[in-house]
Amino acid sequence: MKLDITKGIQRKGYDVAFELVDSWTEDRWNGDAIAYTAPVTLSGTYMLADETVIVRGTARAEITSPCARCLKPAVTIVEAEVEEAFFRDIDGTLEVEEDQYKYSGHMLQLDDAVRSALLLELPSRIFCRADCKGLCSHCGKDLNINECSCQKDLTHRNPFSALASLLNEDEEV
Ligand SMILES: [Zn+2]
Ligand SMILES: [Zn+2]
Repeated sequence: MKLDITKGIQRKGYDVAFELVDSWTEDRWNGDAIAYTAPVTLSGTYMLADETVIVRGTARAEITSPCARCLKPAVTIVEAEVEEAFFRDIDGTLEVEEDQYKYSGHMLQLDDAVRSALLLELPSRIFCRADCKGLCSHCGKDLNINECSCQKDLTHRNPFSALASLLNEDEEV
Protein backbone atom coordinates (compact mmCIF):
# COMPACT_ATOMS: atom_id res chain seq x y z
CA MET A 1 0.00 0.00 0.00
CA LYS A 2 1.93 2.98 -1.33
CA LEU A 3 1.05 6.65 -1.17
CA ASP A 4 2.35 9.10 -3.77
CA ILE A 5 2.96 12.40 -1.97
CA THR A 6 3.90 14.51 -5.01
CA LYS A 7 0.82 16.75 -4.56
CA GLY A 8 1.66 17.34 -0.92
CA ILE A 9 5.27 18.20 -1.70
CA GLN A 10 3.98 20.90 -4.05
CA ARG A 11 1.54 22.25 -1.44
CA LYS A 12 3.25 21.94 1.93
CA GLY A 13 1.05 22.61 4.94
CA TYR A 14 -2.17 21.60 3.16
CA ASP A 15 -4.21 18.45 3.74
CA VAL A 16 -4.38 16.26 0.66
CA ALA A 17 -7.13 13.62 0.52
CA PHE A 18 -6.31 10.11 -0.64
CA GLU A 19 -7.85 6.69 -0.93
CA LEU A 20 -5.84 3.47 -1.28
CA VAL A 21 -6.85 -0.11 -1.93
CA ASP A 22 -4.51 -3.07 -1.78
CA SER A 23 -4.75 -6.85 -1.83
CA TRP A 24 -2.98 -8.57 1.02
CA THR A 25 -2.83 -12.31 1.56
CA GLU A 26 -1.68 -14.31 4.57
CA ASP A 27 -0.37 -13.02 7.87
CA ARG A 28 0.36 -14.30 11.38
CA TRP A 29 -1.33 -13.07 14.51
CA ASN A 30 -1.19 -14.51 18.08
CA GLY A 31 0.42 -17.64 16.66
CA ASP A 32 -2.44 -18.23 14.20
CA ALA A 33 -2.40 -18.13 10.42
CA ILE A 34 -4.81 -15.43 9.30
CA ALA A 35 -5.76 -14.06 5.88
CA TYR A 36 -7.03 -10.80 4.46
CA THR A 37 -10.02 -12.06 2.49
CA ALA A 38 -11.11 -8.73 0.97
CA PRO A 39 -9.11 -5.75 -0.29
CA VAL A 40 -7.61 -3.63 2.49
CA THR A 41 -8.54 0.05 2.19
CA LEU A 42 -7.18 3.23 3.72
CA SER A 43 -8.81 6.60 3.20
CA GLY A 44 -7.85 9.88 4.78
CA THR A 45 -5.55 12.84 4.35
CA TYR A 46 -1.86 13.55 4.55
CA MET A 47 0.07 16.75 4.99
CA LEU A 48 3.70 17.74 4.76
CA ALA A 49 4.89 19.69 7.78
CA ASP A 50 8.26 20.74 6.48
CA GLU A 51 9.60 17.34 5.35
CA THR A 52 7.68 15.17 7.79
CA VAL A 53 4.50 13.62 6.39
CA ILE A 54 1.54 13.31 8.75
CA VAL A 55 -0.88 10.61 7.60
CA ARG A 56 -4.38 10.38 9.11
CA GLY A 57 -6.96 7.92 7.92
CA THR A 58 -9.28 4.99 8.51
CA ALA A 59 -8.21 1.51 7.49
CA ARG A 60 -10.67 -1.29 6.82
CA ALA A 61 -10.07 -4.99 6.33
CA GLU A 62 -11.81 -8.33 6.37
CA ILE A 63 -9.69 -10.80 8.31
CA THR A 64 -10.32 -14.54 8.38
CA SER A 65 -8.83 -16.46 11.28
CA PRO A 66 -9.47 -19.78 13.03
CA CYS A 67 -12.38 -19.79 15.52
CA ALA A 68 -10.95 -19.99 19.05
CA ARG A 69 -13.39 -22.81 19.89
CA CYS A 70 -13.87 -24.96 16.76
CA LEU A 71 -10.94 -23.79 14.53
CA LYS A 72 -13.24 -23.20 11.54
CA PRO A 73 -12.54 -19.97 9.59
CA ALA A 74 -14.13 -16.96 11.28
CA VAL A 75 -14.51 -13.63 9.49
CA THR A 76 -13.96 -10.33 11.31
CA ILE A 77 -14.48 -6.90 9.78
CA VAL A 78 -11.83 -4.61 11.28
CA GLU A 79 -11.71 -0.84 11.20
CA ALA A 80 -8.78 1.12 12.63
CA GLU A 81 -7.69 4.72 12.86
CA VAL A 82 -4.21 5.34 11.49
CA GLU A 83 -2.27 8.41 12.52
CA GLU A 84 1.45 8.31 11.88
CA ALA A 85 4.35 10.58 11.04
CA PHE A 86 6.80 9.61 8.31
CA PHE A 87 10.25 11.14 8.48
CA ARG A 88 12.25 11.89 5.35
CA ASP A 89 15.34 9.77 4.95
CA ILE A 90 17.43 11.63 2.40
CA ASP A 91 20.48 9.36 2.15
CA GLY A 92 19.37 6.13 3.86
CA THR A 93 21.09 6.91 7.17
CA LEU A 94 18.15 8.29 9.19
CA GLU A 95 17.69 6.44 12.49
CA VAL A 96 14.11 6.12 13.74
CA GLU A 97 12.47 4.36 16.69
CA GLU A 98 10.93 0.96 16.12
CA ASP A 99 7.39 2.37 15.98
CA GLN A 100 8.31 5.29 13.74
CA TYR A 101 8.36 5.36 9.96
CA LYS A 102 10.55 6.89 7.32
CA TYR A 103 10.34 7.52 3.59
CA SER A 104 12.51 8.63 0.74
CA GLY A 105 11.61 10.11 -2.62
CA HIS A 106 7.91 10.78 -3.14
CA MET A 107 6.44 7.44 -2.04
CA LEU A 108 5.34 6.33 1.43
CA GLN A 109 5.17 2.61 2.18
CA LEU A 110 2.14 2.38 4.49
CA ASP A 111 1.86 -1.41 4.94
CA ASP A 112 3.49 -1.63 8.38
CA ALA A 113 1.53 1.29 9.85
CA VAL A 114 -1.81 0.03 8.50
CA ARG A 115 -1.14 -3.58 9.49
CA SER A 116 -0.19 -2.65 13.09
CA ALA A 117 -3.30 -0.50 13.47
CA LEU A 118 -5.61 -3.21 12.12
CA LEU A 119 -4.16 -6.06 14.21
CA LEU A 120 -4.44 -3.94 17.38
CA GLU A 121 -8.20 -3.78 16.81
CA LEU A 122 -8.66 -7.56 16.58
CA PRO A 123 -10.34 -9.06 19.65
CA SER A 124 -8.05 -11.40 21.60
CA ARG A 125 -10.32 -14.41 20.93
CA ILE A 126 -12.35 -14.68 17.73
CA PHE A 127 -15.33 -17.02 17.34
CA CYS A 128 -17.07 -18.18 14.15
CA ARG A 129 -20.31 -17.25 15.92
CA ALA A 130 -21.17 -16.14 19.44
CA ASP A 131 -22.74 -19.49 20.40
CA CYS A 132 -20.13 -21.75 18.79
CA LYS A 133 -20.12 -24.99 20.78
CA GLY A 134 -16.50 -25.80 19.90
CA LEU A 135 -14.84 -29.18 19.77
CA CYS A 136 -15.39 -31.94 22.32
CA SER A 137 -12.42 -31.93 24.67
CA HIS A 138 -12.55 -35.75 24.84
CA CYS A 139 -13.04 -36.97 21.27
CA GLY A 140 -12.38 -33.79 19.26
CA LYS A 141 -15.70 -33.86 17.36
CA ASP A 142 -17.20 -30.57 16.19
CA LEU A 143 -20.18 -30.17 18.54
CA ASN A 144 -21.84 -27.67 16.18
CA ILE A 145 -22.41 -30.52 13.74
CA ASN A 146 -23.13 -33.45 16.05
CA GLU A 147 -23.24 -34.11 19.73
CA CYS A 148 -20.80 -36.86 20.51
CA SER A 149 -21.53 -39.59 23.08
CA CYS A 150 -19.13 -38.10 25.67
CA GLN A 151 -21.29 -34.98 25.66
CA LYS A 152 -24.50 -37.03 25.96
CA ASP A 153 -23.15 -38.80 29.05
CA LEU A 154 -22.40 -35.44 30.64
CA THR A 155 -25.80 -34.02 29.73
CA HIS A 156 -27.53 -37.11 31.03
CA ARG A 157 -25.88 -36.73 34.43
CA ASN A 158 -26.59 -33.04 34.75
CA PRO A 159 -28.41 -30.94 32.17
CA PHE A 160 -26.45 -27.86 33.20
CA SER A 161 -23.02 -29.45 33.08
CA ALA A 162 -22.33 -28.34 29.52
CA LEU A 163 -23.07 -24.75 30.46
CA ALA A 164 -21.24 -25.07 33.75
CA SER A 165 -18.15 -26.41 32.05
CA LEU A 166 -18.21 -23.43 29.67
CA LEU A 167 -18.45 -21.03 32.58
CA ASN A 168 -15.80 -22.78 34.67
CA GLU A 169 -13.32 -23.81 32.03
CA ASP A 170 -10.43 -23.07 34.37
CA GLU A 171 -11.78 -25.03 37.31
CA GLU A 172 -12.76 -28.11 35.33
CA VAL A 173 -10.64 -31.11 36.31
ZN1 LIG B 1 -16.44 -21.93 16.07
ZN1 LIG C 1 -16.76 -36.27 22.52
